[in-house]
Amino acid sequence: MRKINAYICPALHHTITVCKDEGATSMFIKCPTCEATGKNEKAISMMGNVHQHFTPTHEWYKPTLEDWNNLNADIANKSLLSQLELHVKRGGLLFRPIK
Ligand SMILES: [Zn+2]
Repeated sequence: MRKINAYICPALHHTITVCKDEGATSMFIKCPTCEATGKNEKAISMMGNVHQHFTPTHEWYKPTLEDWNNLNADIANKSLLSQLELHVKRGGLLFRPIK
């Protein structure tokens, strides 16, 4: 729990993450820094090999009922939504910026 990890993209942006809940995280994410400038780069996991004192900017979480209601309202693509549901049913966590 509260395990800090990081993801590095080819432009060497790093995204510091935390596991809020127990479950499976992904090996790759879309680099949020690149995404903010309209580029699409994959960032790869440091596999938890990261000093634990870093402050995370993003979290892996297991959606609560309220989270699902928000996702349902935000995601117009219902087939994407059912993919997320299947992913979570199989023990996968979802990824979001920490507010
Ligand atoms: Zn990047």
